Amino acid sequence: MPAHLGMPANAPDLPADAPLIDRYGRVARDLRVSLTDRCNLRCTYCMPEDPDHWLPEDTLLTDDELTRLIGVAITRLGISDVRFTGGEPLLRRGLEQLIAATATLRTVDGAVPGISLTTNALGLARRARKLAAAGLQRVNVSLDSINPKHYAEVTRRNHLPAVVAGLTAARDAGLAPIKVNAVPQPAHYTTDAPALLRFCLAQGYQLRFIEHMPLGGSVEWRRNAIVTRQQLLTALVAAGARLTAPPTERGTSPAELWNVEWGDLTGDIGIIAAVTAPFCTSCDRTRLTADGQIRTCLFDQVETDLRGPLRAGASDDELAQLWRRATWLKPRSHGIDHDGFARPSRPMSAIGG
Ligand code: SAM
Ligand code: SF4
Repeated sequence: MPAHLGMPANAPDLPADAPLIDRYGRVARDLRVSLTDRCNLRCTYCMPEDPDHWLPEDTLLTDDELTRLIGVAITRLGISDVRFTGGEPLLRRGLEQLIAATATLRTVDGAVPGISLTTNALGLARRARKLAAAGLQRVNVSLDSINPKHYAEVTRRNHLPAVVAGLTAARDAGLAPIKVNAVPQPAHYTTDAPALLRFCLAQGYQLRFIEHMPLGGSVEWRRNAIVTRQQLLTALVAAGARLTAPPTERGTSPAELWNVEWGDLTGDIGIIAAVTAPFCTSCDRTRLTADGQIRTCLFDQVETDLRGPLRAGASDDELAQLWRRATWLKPRSHGIDHDGFARPSRPMSAIGG
């Protein structure tokens, strides 16, 4: 392997047909691709009100570069699912073309890859049909509260009706399942969480609460100040929801699921307890940032550059080998609870949630 490829130190040579396997035996099958670090919201837990810099334009992967790297991941490295995220992925011109290009790829098993999007849904009402026609299958929409005042407090923008319209359009376009991601807010969760759950059950959306993680944003993160899984469950039951754990294991999914019955409403709810019940031992993710860096863990301090080698003429084999070796060094766990924990150098919006 030529020196200019900047091979991660300490990684062994791995077989040229190996999947993305790490030292602890985990295999990455799920690729998160960040398309931009920019966003039209300013969620307090994710971004400062006035971010002081954005990624320089010339460092962003072009559509062709993205398509090539996604192709390497799917056709050589065993990736079966691709999720486009950001920042706000709907801000990326050419999203439909990127999805269409991804949909033409086939996994190492000959299957169409799973293609999904995580979005704040601003503009989704207009684009849901086109995205579905391009090959998008599923969508996760971030919606922390259906109380307009609280939604505006968290996102620092007043766009709740556009999000609700985006969700409806996604359903009408046949995207399924539709998941709603919510980071519960300490000031309002006892009322907002039950209201959001009832809204999602009534609309047929699958609600997923995510514990607030120490990743950028403008609110101070303190472990004992976040809303935990246990507090949420208590608030939902106190409001009248009947929750039962389903018989199946959660597998590689980070969400712990409960079946919900609430009067005539039924469905399920998931809680992603990344802080109080980490799921690192079954993590099957790898991430590609908008500027072409591999991140094997959201919280890793280390990134592996693919953009430089790609632009310097590396072959697909060489790019695949870089990705394998970076994955080999994936940390065992995110270590939020360890004394030496340091926040990653980039916020969630720049890594890709
Ligand atoms: N803009 C899109 C959106 O909001 O869905 C995609 C990017 S966003 C970074 C992806 C997900 O990360 C969102 O569901 C958001 O709620 C979540 N997120 C952002 N910062 C977080 C944090 N500090 N802790 C937990 N979840 C976070
Ligand atoms: Fe934007 Fe998503 Fe971050 Fe909110 S969570 S600021 S919508 S990137």
